Formats: sequence, C-alpha cells, structure tokens
Amino acid sequence: MVAPPRSAYLHIPFCHKRCFYCDFSIIPLGDSAQAPGSPGITSINAYLALLHREISCSPKGPALSTIYLGGGTPSLLNKYELGDLLKNLQRKFGFQDGAEITMEVDPATFVENDLKGYIEIGINRISLGGQAFDDATLASIGRKHNRSQLVEACNWVNKLFKNGFLRSWSLDLIQNLPGLNLSKWIKELEQAVITEAPHLSIYDLTIEPDTVFGRIHKKGSLNIPIESEAQKIDFETNRFLKNCGFSRYEISSYSLPGHASRHNRMYWSGSGWWGFGMGATSAPWGERFTRPRTIAGYKKWVEKQGSQLLEGALSSEKSKPMPLDEILMIGLRRREGVHLLELARKVGWTEKECNKNIKSLEKYWMYYLENGLLLRENGRYFLSDPQGMQISNQVLIQMFLWWDSLGLDY
Ligand code: SF4
Repeated sequence: MVAPPRSAYLHIPFCHKRCFYCDFSIIPLGDSAQAPGSPGITSINAYLALLHREISCSPKGPALSTIYLGGGTPSLLNKYELGDLLKNLQRKFGFQDGAEITMEVDPATFVENDLKGYIEIGINRISLGGQAFDDATLASIGRKHNRSQLVEACNWVNKLFKNGFLRSWSLDLIQNLPGLNLSKWIKELEQAVITEAPHLSIYDLTIEPDTVFGRIHKKGSLNIPIESEAQKIDFETNRFLKNCGFSRYEISSYSLPGHASRHNRMYWSGSGWWGFGMGATSAPWGERFTRPRTIAGYKKWVEKQGSQLLEGALSSEKSKPMPLDEILMIGLRRREGVHLLELARKVGWTEKECNKNIKSLEKYWMYYLENGLLLRENGRYFLSDPQGMQISNQVLIQMFLWWDSLGLDY
C-alpha cells in the first residue's frame, strides 16, 4: 500500500476547439466559450456542479502538498469558478503550507489581469501551453493562438514571476511537429529560452489514431520529420538546453535549479494522487482508475458515487497496489531511474524471487546495459542521457515482455 496521497489533479475539460493531435478528454465549446449566457457557459456550469459533487463525496485524506489544475484549458474558467474549486478541495483535504498549486493556461484565453486573479486565489505556478512559436506551424496543428499572442502571454507570466508573485512557471513545446526540421527547431528553442521560463516541457508528438493527425498519417501524408531528423532534433534539445543551464530531470522535463515541478516528481515517483473530473485518472492507493471520458458517462458515474463511495480504487481498503511493471514504467522516465530491488521488496517479493526475477529482467535488458543505454549503479537502473532516454520505449517494451514472462496476475 502506498502512503496516503498528498497531491490532487483537477480536470477542466473545456477548449475552444480540438487541436489536430489531441485525443484528451475535452469538450470543445467553439467561440462561445466565454460569452455570457452562451451554451458554453451552460456546459461549464453543469460540469462544475458535477466536479464539486465529486470532490465533496471523495474520501478524506491528509493535507495536500501539490495541486494541479489541468485540461483542457483551465483558463477558460474565471477566477471565481477556479477559486471555488480550490476552496472545496481545501475544505476536503486542507493544503500544506507552501503547497505547489499549478494551473495550465493557453495563450489567447487570458489577459494579464486574469493572471493576477489566478494568483489572488492561490495559484503559484503557471504552465503555459505554447507548443510552437512559428505561426505556420501553430496553424497547421490547429491551435487557436498565434506567435504574438504566445510571446505576449510569456511576457505577462514572466513579469509576475520576476516580481515574486509566482513561484515558477513552465512553457510547453512540441518537437517533431509536421514541417519541422533541425534549423527550424533550433529557432523554436532559442525563442523558448528568450522567454526566461525556468521550466520547459518538451514533448514528442505522438500520433493518436482517433485524431485529425492520426487520419492524415494513416494516408501517409503527414509530413513529420523522418527518424534520423527526429533524433537530431532530440539531441539538439538536450544539448542546447543544457548549455543554457537547464537540467533534464525527466524525459520531457527541463528545469533551471530549484524549478523542477513537485507535482510531476510526485507522479513519476509512483506516489498516489487524487484525481477529479471527466476522464481524470487517479491512483490514491496504488490502483489506477480513469473516470468516463464523456460528459454523459461522467455524469452517470458521479451520480452513482453519491455520498457513499462505490469505486473500489478510491477506497484504501478495496484498492489493489500499483503493479511493479507500472511503477517501473513511470520511474524509468526520471533521471534517477528506479531502485529495482527496493521496489520488488516493497511489492512483497521474497529474496529468492527478487534474485531470480531481476536476473531475468537483466537478460531482457542485456543489449541496453551492454551498450550504455541503460545504466546500473548501486542497484539503481536509469536511462543514459540523451541516448538512453531517446530509446526509452524499447527499454520499456523489453520490461513488459519480461513482466508477461513472469505470468503474475498482479
Ligand atoms: S488546447 Fe490542449 S487540451 Fe485543448 S484540444 Fe488543444 S491540445 Fe487538446
């Protein structure tokens, strides 16, 4: 059993429209998203009522040290709506002194004054969904904002950070987008560093089948960088950002000293967390549970929960521990990797099982260990940076094959 959760994720599913690569659980509202009396506002109110209800009927737990408002686009809500959600969460769990409270915001959905409102209600870390600076790229991935709106948003956030109103902030970019090559990507990185964001999340584009990009890719006409170019782009990200003083504490996360996200680190450490909202995943006691991804399904589920909690994974008595393969999958994303023996003992393996199974896993990982892609030091296994991190999927596939070969049912 994991220690009681001290983190919570709140899902705000609203967006203006669906970006071409996105398969998140969202509700596109079109341009009516923020207009008074519009259908968008009605949907928001109905959803917030469900979200409050879900928080209220959740089991209790210790005070939270990290809270993350993600989406979707939380900045489509106003400070009163967001403040009420935080108050409800605080009534339920309490917040530790100095809790990290992050909110995702998208350019073109807020102005400087809105940011001040978010800070007033307790937000102390902003995660800005920039994705790209180039106007043609932004249009080609279906984003609503343009370059000048992104630059303006970065300036507003950074000003508040430098004046001490925010503890930190992060900018998201996606590498390997269609039409991108190494020289264009270097320009993106340069602009990201100019914003002075102390934390950068650099995601690889993943092509999800049920998206616009998924359909174009199936026809073979999505112009994404070929593998060798994608590798160069990834190496350059690593080299460039390290030269600028960033450290890579997780496959997709770079931070200046003192700016690693506590919420992210909690998640990758395998600790438990509460999750609330449509499509949100939680794992308060180990076992993961994902809520229905449609509003109708989520409504039905919340109504079923009522005040008497029925979902096994949300109760400390009924939930099962997180399986070891899942713990390894998330732990290997971190710079420090995983201590295999300690984790295996924690899930209850005997010394004999530990010896036998770890030796067997090392056979699956032999190529990566022998070629310096996966490193082993004092019982800790971690991916080398950048070569190992670049092929993390291959290492994970071998780990899952090993897991299947054990034939365990937990
Ligand atoms: S803004 Fe974010 S969550 Fe919304 S559709 Fe685009 S990528 Fe998905």
